[in-house]
Amino acid sequence: MYGQVIYDQIADKAGLPCYKCHLCGKWVRGLGYHIYHKHKITSREYKKMFGLDLKQSLLGTKEKLNRRNKTLENKTYLNLAAGEAQRQKVKTGVVKLANYKRSEQTKKRIKNNLKNKPKEIELKL
Ligand SMILES: [Zn+2]
Repeated sequence: MYGQVIYDQIADKAGLPCYKCHLCGKWVRGLGYHIYHKHKITSREYKKMFGLDLKQSLLGTKEKLNRRNKTLENKTYLNLAAGEAQRQKVKTGVVKLANYKRSEQTKKRIKNNLKNKPKEIELKL
């Protein structure tokens, strides 16, 4: 299915393989790891190949929790501080992001976000 991940929510809740690989049809818990080691491509390349949102998670809930706990244990979240200055530059418009072709899934997400965006409140002083 182009532009959509193949995901089984029930299997995910049970801690079973819940993502289906578009390339070989295998069900796995962590698709990023699978495609990198079995198909020798990165998650980003895979997502572009199948029209997926680049922010789309490819990790099952249990695996996500395991990695979250490891991050807290290793304190690797402290690395975020290193990129804060750059993020501020992007937010304030000092640095512009590259204009790139967005996937179908990303376009759907952005459209959906815009639909559900709360209307700005006008302040009258
Ligand atoms: Zn595969």
